[in-house]
Amino acid sequence: MEAAQASYPEDQSALEPDTLYVERPVRPVGQALWRGLRGHCPACDKGKIFYRYLKVNDTCPTCGEELFHQRADDAPPYMTIFVVGHIIGAAMLAVEGKWPELPIWIHIAIWPALTIVLSLTILPMMKGALIAYQWALRMHGFDDPMEADKPVAG
Ligand SMILES: [Zn+2]
Repeated sequence: MEAAQASYPEDQSALEPDTLYVERPVRPVGQALWRGLRGHCPACDKGKIFYRYLKVNDTCPTCGEELFHQRADDAPPYMTIFVVGHIIGAAMLAVEGKWPELPIWIHIAIWPALTIVLSLTILPMMKGALIAYQWALRMHGFDDPMEADKPVAG
């Protein structure tokens, strides 16, 4: 009894399905980051990314760009701690160096309050920038295969 032999065509590319290459609009990363930092839609710069403090709109209220694909997760708090830590740390050292006789109660009054205010200010900026970055690089679901059919906004 002979084993059945599979036969393949010599040209393996004949097995590949036809691929449709669509030219998609460029998404400049720097422009998207600047828009995201200010909480603006990375696609149109007019709509808001957030409908509350850190709550992301499913779609841009102005242009309809889908924003629910974002996967910001823990990155915005991480980046916020990194930035705020360097600002507050440097400021504490500078103040201590400039006014070494400053009473400790002034340090206790200033630095925690400034840290909280700065963190709450920077956190949505970091989240907006990260979402815009993911959008610009077409990460996660931000790569829309039908995009070429849409009018370019902005
Ligand atoms: Zn938009």
